[in-house]
Amino acid sequence: MATADVVTMDKIVSLSKRRGFIFPSSEIYGGIGSSYDYGHYGVLLKNNVKAEWWRSLLRERDDVVALDSAIIQHPRTWEASGHIAGFTDPLVDCRTCKRRYRADKLEDGQCGEKPSKPPGEGPNCDLTEARNFNLMFQTTVGPVQDEGSTVFLRPETAQGIFLNFKHYLQFARKKPPFGIAQVGKSFRNEITPGNFVFRMREFEQMEMEFFVPPAEADKWYDFWKQARFDWYVKLGIRPDHLRLRPHDADELSHYSSATSDVEYLYPIGWQELEGIANRGDFDLRQHAEYSRQNLEYVDTASGERYLPYVIEPAAGADRATLAFLCDAYDEDEIEGETRTVLRLHPALAPVKAAVLPLVKKDGQPEVAREIVAALRERLQVEYDEGGAIGRRYRRQDEIGTPWSITVDHQSLDDRTVTVRDRDSLQQDRVAIDALADELERRLRAPWRSPKGSYGP
Ligand code: ATP
Repeated sequence: MATADVVTMDKIVSLSKRRGFIFPSSEIYGGIGSSYDYGHYGVLLKNNVKAEWWRSLLRERDDVVALDSAIIQHPRTWEASGHIAGFTDPLVDCRTCKRRYRADKLEDGQCGEKPSKPPGEGPNCDLTEARNFNLMFQTTVGPVQDEGSTVFLRPETAQGIFLNFKHYLQFARKKPPFGIAQVGKSFRNEITPGNFVFRMREFEQMEMEFFVPPAEADKWYDFWKQARFDWYVKLGIRPDHLRLRPHDADELSHYSSATSDVEYLYPIGWQELEGIANRGDFDLRQHAEYSRQNLEYVDTASGERYLPYVIEPAAGADRATLAFLCDAYDEDEIEGETRTVLRLHPALAPVKAAVLPLVKKDGQPEVAREIVAALRERLQVEYDEGGAIGRRYRRQDEIGTPWSITVDHQSLDDRTVTVRDRDSLQQDRVAIDALADELERRLRAPWRSPKGSYGP
């Protein structure tokens, strides 16, 4: 599906490659489906997405703490969590086109590929019965491959949080409500990966488990649904391209009593960006039983004891990065030429300011280098002296740099430079000595996408 203000995936894929955000992995060997590598600007962008997530939880709140747990955990983890029995997708094979599909994603029970038989000579599609396919990657630890050495690459970061919950009670003396957050790689042997970094087999998650007294679960579920929705809006996603969709009863996971997805209008339609679930005490109860450890919170003063309920906002760093890229992508016309511009929130932009000497002589490069040295202590900046100034602006527009600073003839006389705004194209003259403060002021100012329509 495509609407007028939704960019095509082809444009995003092509810009990502052209400007070094994201490359298909192992390309010199012909590529490996569904794996992608982040290039220089992609790393800076995704790091900013993750940094903003951490900031909203660790710096702006005092009831969330951090964790970085191992990818390989004790195999009993996945028995307790239900992943060995239930982390499956229904898989069907098409005998006609010889491909595999997820049964729940097929339209009208047909695989939709080109039929190999002419019309009227049998079914277009000859599908096998669906069988459950476990999405966990399995490997072995140690030199001997026996039954006891089988382990799994984690399919979600959440379980690492439950396994460490006791440490936070004992040593950090945390009292519900409080959250434990982590960011890291997860692995799923997806049947139908695709749509660029939307669905990969190796991806990065940003998950938080918020432990609460059972009676407060509904309240905190509502709170985190709204807080997570608002996070995307604050970082510039147009609100009319985002929605909160509650799951129907038959969609709910085995552990969840209520789940809502934050969905974004991707080039492939409305799709999940993040899920917020009320997991009850399912996980702590399971791990308490399987590990024979007491995972209850005990209030030493009142003697009250309970297994906390858990509210989980689970986001994907890659899906978020893709959503920010799609929402930022824009084309306009300047001086009769089409310009591609990423209207990213300045906090997410890979490079905050580019410093450009107008000409490569007359002392301008030296002044520009001096500015770079001063700014780099506070911001991600880039120096570029190659080619016509218009081309250099376009290059920065394509990677979403909000401000381009040009050193010109006048700069050598009065130590001022021009600051060009990526979106308004306005140029202001600013004193070199005031530049860093001015850029930080702009960086902190509330921001809305100029692509949006926000009403009165
Ligand atoms: P889907 O229904 O799209 O498969 P899910 O409901 O299984 O997603 P969760 O288990 O809730 O996903 O994982 C939390 C988040 O992790 C998702 O909202 C998504 O942003 C991200 N995520 C999950 N699977 C993938 C994947 N294969 N590639 C990239 N990101 C993913």
